[in-house]
Amino acid sequence: MKKTIPLIVGNWKLNPVTLDDAVKLAIQVASKQKKAEVPYVSVAPPFVYLSEVGKKTKKSSVSLAAQDVYFKNIGAHTGEISILQLKDLGVEFVIIGHSERRAMGETDEDVQQKVLMTIKHRLIPIVCIGERERDEQGHFFSFVEKQIRCLAKVLSSAQMKKIVIAYEPIWAIGTGNTATADDVREMQLFIESVLTKVYDRSTAKNTRLLYGGSVKPNNAKELHEEGNMNGFLVGGASLKADDFTAIIKAVS
Ligand code: PEP
Repeated sequence: MKKTIPLIVGNWKLNPVTLDDAVKLAIQVASKQKKAEVPYVSVAPPFVYLSEVGKKTKKSSVSLAAQDVYFKNIGAHTGEISILQLKDLGVEFVIIGHSERRAMGETDEDVQQKVLMTIKHRLIPIVCIGERERDEQGHFFSFVEKQIRCLAKVLSSAQMKKIVIAYEPIWAIGTGNTATADDVREMQLFIESVLTKVYDRSTAKNTRLLYGGSVKPNNAKELHEEGNMNGFLVGGASLKADDFTAIIKAVS
């Protein structure tokens, strides 16, 4: 994946309610995304729809992403999904450490293990980080730095360059309170500075960063052009094919 080409990932979360609607949405998104590579586009439906959605996106340039993975491959782990199962379905990206999963008890150690398992099987982790709230003193920067350092504890520079980091401030997710383009740009520079400190400049320059948090058709262009990240993780707006397509166009 060339970092110069933006990546737009639609996180469908626990939507839609029926397989029929999931297939319809997949067909609509795929039909608008026939040409390859500008930008890269991926959708992350609920696990139960991956197979059927994959069939509909197969002939388009839209790839398949999963919303989570377990860190073991086989055995007595009721309710879990393994990376081998995802790979078998043609999944390319795996969202890991989304704030909604962390809120349900996922720990930093879980995130580390899931990322390692995903890389080991040559899928691409999209690791979500981001502060719960912003404070005037800027403590949120230390929070973000801690999350990056936690990943860095288990990842070599070469591995870090293979993952995608999605900066998703929790206060912006699903709230309509998008970060400003300046906030996003500032965080892009900050994350790169942390990666430079922990690894080196080459790691910082080669690790893909996404922004996520209430990205909509009306703010995507400015966030992309001025925010200077390498794409978006989109929640709510990925559930309407027209909105998702408008966001894709805004970065094209
Ligand atoms: C998300 O859940 O990853 C997300 C960014 O959601 P939304 O776009 O709805 O804020």
